[in-house]
Amino acid sequence: MNQSLVDQIDAILPQTQCGKCGFTGCKPYAEAILQGKADINQCPPGNQVGIQKIAQLLGVPEKPLNTAHGQPNSTPVVAWINELLCIGCTFCIRACPVDAIVGAAKQLHTVIAAECTGCELCIAPCPMDCISLIPVEKSTEAAVKKQAADLARTRFQFRQQRLAHKKAADTKGKSAKLTHQLDSGQTHSDTRKQTIISAALKRAAALRTQQQTSGKKSPHKPI
Ligand code: SF4
Ligand code: SF4
Ligand code: SF4
Repeated sequence: MNQSLVDQIDAILPQTQCGKCGFTGCKPYAEAILQGKADINQCPPGNQVGIQKIAQLLGVPEKPLNTAHGQPNSTPVVAWINELLCIGCTFCIRACPVDAIVGAAKQLHTVIAAECTGCELCIAPCPMDCISLIPVEKSTEAAVKKQAADLARTRFQFRQQRLAHKKAADTKGKSAKLTHQLDSGQTHSDTRKQTIISAALKRAAALRTQQQTSGKKSPHKPI
């Protein structure tokens, strides 16, 4: 795949990381476009401006936004947590693609508004329905928008790397546990074998003794 082209498409995408395009983030969507697995009009936050730029970059006809993937927000939004209701379950933290929520288990959680992309992914998992989206003033200046998109991209990539490391560590941990279980299973098996052999030897010795004893007493002792 042409990585430079992937990066150029990704640079056009808004980095909301909402998954509305049907992919896990903006870069996976950019890759899917180049692989022919996605159309250029599946990103609601990027809206028609984004579609137009991607069409120009790829030299293909512009298309209207496919609203089956959602509608663009009319105003910028960020998430807000009603801290009186929050029970600290951490479900929202696990859902946030850019680590914009801070909090610890059983403690109230807060959204870092400057880092929230308004992706909405934290809303559905909240069992207390205490997260809502609130409109915010965001600069429409291209440089400021780019800076915000770059920050979201970096935070998204950092999170992906962290999750990948965690997954690798978990797999390694499971593998080590399995090895330990197999090892201890082997040990148990060896111990069991030793016990069986030892019992068999004892039985054989007892039988020999019994035969010798009964042989001495036998009236029909062979000549
Ligand atoms: S902003 Fe959302 S819909 Fe647009 S490319 Fe990124 S993840 Fe997909
Ligand atoms: S806080 Fe919620 S809306 Fe904001 S980026 Fe994280 S998941 Fe998305
Ligand atoms: S999901 Fe809702 S209740 Fe759970 S920590 Fe987040 S805001 Fe609080």
